[in-house]
Amino acid sequence: MPGYDYDLIVIGGGSGGVRAARMAASYGARVVLVEEKEMGGTCVNVGCVPKKLFAFGSHYSDDLRDMAAYGWQLPGEARFDWATLKRNKDKEIARLNGIYLQILDRADVEVATGRGTVTGPHEVTVGTRRLSGQHILVATGGRPWRPEPAQMPGVEHTWVSDHIFEMEELPERMLVVGGGYIAVEMASIFHGFGVNVDLAYRGEMLLRGFDDDVRHELSNELRKRGLHVHFRCAPQRVTREADGRLRVHMDDSEVVVTDAVLMATGRVPNTFGLGLQDVGVQLSDRGAVLVNDRYQTTVPSIYAVGDVIDRMQLTPVALAEGMLVARNLFLGEDNELDYAYTPTAVFTHPSVGTVGYTEAEARKHFGAVRLFKSHFRPMRHTLTGHNERTFMKLIVDAETDRVVGLHMVGPDAAEITQGFAVAMRCGATKAQFDATIGIHPSAAEELVTMRTEWTPPTDGEVA
Ligand code: FAD
Ligand code: NDP
Repeated sequence: MPGYDYDLIVIGGGSGGVRAARMAASYGARVVLVEEKEMGGTCVNVGCVPKKLFAFGSHYSDDLRDMAAYGWQLPGEARFDWATLKRNKDKEIARLNGIYLQILDRADVEVATGRGTVTGPHEVTVGTRRLSGQHILVATGGRPWRPEPAQMPGVEHTWVSDHIFEMEELPERMLVVGGGYIAVEMASIFHGFGVNVDLAYRGEMLLRGFDDDVRHELSNELRKRGLHVHFRCAPQRVTREADGRLRVHMDDSEVVVTDAVLMATGRVPNTFGLGLQDVGVQLSDRGAVLVNDRYQTTVPSIYAVGDVIDRMQLTPVALAEGMLVARNLFLGEDNELDYAYTPTAVFTHPSVGTVGYTEAEARKHFGAVRLFKSHFRPMRHTLTGHNERTFMKLIVDAETDRVVGLHMVGPDAAEITQGFAVAMRCGATKAQFDATIGIHPSAAEELVTMRTEWTPPTDGEVA
């Protein structure tokens, strides 16, 4: 495009930014990507990837617990070494950072290292460099949020999720505050490493927004494993004791003495100091960039995708949004993203998988629904005797027979849910689920063999 140095300037080298930059360049656009930290963004550096590696590591405690029933014995006592896991995790993340740079290099995307600021509808400043572009894509993601010291004195003694990935020593005790994805995942993962974990949530039940049965099942399973789950309580202030321990005064007047506090109290969009409002880009009250259904902001040359628009904070969603912007701008298409039936998983032990409507949403949206529920002991535990249960639930629109909600708590929930999400996106009916032959023995076969409709227990019956 004559007059501009680039066709597209991308700010942010995370999931959405890298995907948009790479695809745009492959369609022939001249692209520069501005990143101030390591390449790969939240997901690669302080999110999905290291979290999943920790989740794998944490799972070995289950295998060690269960192996004797399968005839296995260790020559000595098993010991977990956090330093080894942390070192190996760091190595893998550094490898991924390098791969991201290579991918961009091979795609002919120029990388500008430093903090980008939007200084005009077509201009981004990085240090002393002024870059001009026909289009700008803001993909700056988000960052952890915790209350200010005025709201919670002593909050500076606490951690947010970014700190967890840099932690040099495993604490003996940890208090995790929050009831969302990060709180439950981290609480569950560190419990698996042998940390004595308290999970404190201000509300009535974990994972607000998920199906109520799933929320109850998960909290039961976490408690059965020995996690201390507290509801209706939040920290008011924190003090550090002479021995280094933290004293956390909760609003229900309980005092928790612990070695570490993780504030998993949400994330905010990275728009502070980005210059967006100065050039006319409107932000929401929470600081998210406001966009239309083509991710265009109130300044037509500026687009935004991913966590910074605060819609669905998931890596595959940021990737899809970034790709859509690249296609629309440089292939002349006019696509819109359909977020319906986007699957999601929570990597707790046991894990949660969900796609489609919760029961409450389905009742509101469709009116009459049919429910199918199953509780069973995972086959692995027939020999171990462990009392873990798997829970599965299907929600069916009574009028069309379409399966509109699938929810589960149990091992491999992410793997199972991903496959069913395709069928549900294609509009599969309960009759089609039932006509599908199962894979035996598997947990997933339960989802195609749920023949009996669930009815609420009558008086005197146990639910
Ligand atoms: P990001 O990946 O955050 O990238 C933004 C980039 O912009 C960063 O690299 C940042 O350094 C850079 N940047 C910001 N401002 C500037 C500036 N002014 N100049 C230059 N660079 C700048 N999602 C899942 O789907 N599955 C999971 O299992 C999962 N687990 C998660 C676990 C944790 C602990 C967290 C925190 C998140 C997790 N997520 C998960 C969410 C997922 O990481 C995000 O949805 C995803 O990374 C968003 O991508 P993005 O491109 O919008 O932003
Ligand atoms: P969430 O918004 O999911 O959860 C924040 C939690 O903190 C909520 O339980 C909230 O309570 C609570 N909270 C907020 N403010 C306070 C306060 N002042 N005091 C006490 N509690 C408070 O954010 P997360 O940080 O857990 O995750 C951010 C996003 O990242 C997720 O929404 C998800 O999209 C993504 N993510 C995805 C993962 C995955 O795909 N597996 C894993 C991790 C993150 P309340 O419910 O009452 O508002």
